[in-house]
Amino acid sequence: MTERMLQFVHLPQQTPEKRPVSLRREDFDEIYRRFDQDAAARQSSRCSQCGVPFCSVHCPLSNNIPDWLKLTAEGRLEEAYEVSSATNNFPEICGRICPQDRLCEGNCVIEKGFESVTIGAVERYLTDTAFDRGWVRPGRPLHERPQSVGIIGAGPGGLAAADQLRRKGYQVHVYDRYDRVGGLMIYGIPGFKLEKPIVLRRWAQLAEAGIVFHLDTEIGREVTLGQLRARHDAVLIATGVYKPRDIGGPGAGLAGIVPALDYLTASNRAGLGDDVPGFESGALNAAGKRVVVIGGGDTAMDCVSTAVRQGAASVQCLYRRDRANMPGSLREVKNAEEEGVEFVWLSAPEAFLGDGTVSGVRAVRMHLGLPDASGRQSVEPVEGSHFTLRADLVIKALGFDPEDLPLAFGEKGLEVSRWGTLSIDHRSFMTSLPGVFAAGDIVRGASLVVWAIRDGRDAAEQMHAYIQQSSTVAVAAE
Ligand code: FAD
Ligand code: SF4
Ligand code: SF4
Repeated sequence: MTERMLQFVHLPQQTPEKRPVSLRREDFDEIYRRFDQDAAARQSSRCSQCGVPFCSVHCPLSNNIPDWLKLTAEGRLEEAYEVSSATNNFPEICGRICPQDRLCEGNCVIEKGFESVTIGAVERYLTDTAFDRGWVRPGRPLHERPQSVGIIGAGPGGLAAADQLRRKGYQVHVYDRYDRVGGLMIYGIPGFKLEKPIVLRRWAQLAEAGIVFHLDTEIGREVTLGQLRARHDAVLIATGVYKPRDIGGPGAGLAGIVPALDYLTASNRAGLGDDVPGFESGALNAAGKRVVVIGGGDTAMDCVSTAVRQGAASVQCLYRRDRANMPGSLREVKNAEEEGVEFVWLSAPEAFLGDGTVSGVRAVRMHLGLPDASGRQSVEPVEGSHFTLRADLVIKALGFDPEDLPLAFGEKGLEVSRWGTLSIDHRSFMTSLPGVFAAGDIVRGASLVVWAIRDGRDAAEQMHAYIQQSSTVAVAAE
């Protein structure tokens, strides 16, 4: 092992610099700046090159982290990039938005006594550098195959599968109802976490590799699943989950109460230069408003920070559990607090006040009770603890469920779980319909980009095996 490594004893952890709050509040550029080569090398050299690297074990893609850290520490950046991109189709995206504290970095063994290696920031640095220096080349195959695949959904799951299958030589067609590629990476996740040119340059690369994108094409409406099955040798469903969980109660139908994804999509589209009808003065813009966001997950965090950047008069986040029990990233809570967001913990909405348009949220304090069967503490309202928050815009960020896909696709034979997610054989990734595979959120329920990439890669392998086997059977039958 080189003397360059194991520096964690001498070198403290350094995360990439954060832009000052005064600048962050004014635009949608990323919060974190990029490492320079020196910082990336020094931080990589803190790795102790574990024999059993728990960082890799807890990375959904089993990234070969110690190897690319060592190569980075040695300044062998192109090789480091090759190793990192061998297991991940979009390392620069994961480096930016994976919840590293729960995955790789949270399981870095030096974390106990010393702070973890900053794996995500190095991963991002490597691929950004690779793009700058022209090392990222379109994944064109060496040999073309005659067979074609149809992929429904251009989110990370669909795109990872498309990339893998194209590299194997298949004719790959991706269908998406949106006008841009990226799924939630383009219209859900805001630019301050993932700047849009990062997604757009991947789109350009994939198109250059020969993947054909059919945008503005909703399967189940413009084209049926049956037509796709007839057109292609195998089909992948990677349509994500989009049905927002709703909230009832008195006043829930007032104007000014909006679903989180409508709000974030309008903001992302406006940032991309699209003409979003009524955005400047409309219900989906927080400028000058008192904003209350309901929820405690990543989507809620994205809404509060978007509202700050739109120039909201005040931003409050109402969550029924406490800071320690929220599902969203604590790093993002800290960033939002720095930017002036107020978190109202242990509080739940009971009613929405207003005459036609919302003017306030009546809420009640909650306390945490005993753990339920899942181990999570139950929440109970505290009697007589009502209070009111004034609000001109209320954003509902309570999570997402799958749409009724068998209905939308007109395929009763498409089996779903009791949660409405697609049922697949977990070895073959095939749904109940022969030759139709599924991956990403539509199988897992709302999850993470890195898991969608993992599923897309695994499904691609299984689709390849299925097509090859079907071709062999067809030739034998001739
Ligand atoms: P999606 O990304 O949802 O893509 C599905 C695609 O299918 C979409 O483009 C959609 O238009 C298309 N589609 C759907 N139905 C049809 C149809 N009938 N015909 C044609 N096309 C169709 N994850 C992280 O790892 N880190 C984060 O910081 C993070 N932040 C998030 C913030 C928000 C606001 C949200 C909502 C999610 C966030 N996630 C984050 C989760 C992550 O974005 C998803 O887990 C991931 O995008 C799922 O990938 P997917 O490919 O399964 O689906
Ligand atoms: Fe960590 Fe995500 Fe990168 Fe894996 S893909 S090493 S979990 S940042
Ligand atoms: Fe290096 Fe930490 Fe991974 Fe060990 S767990 S190989 S120290 S990054």
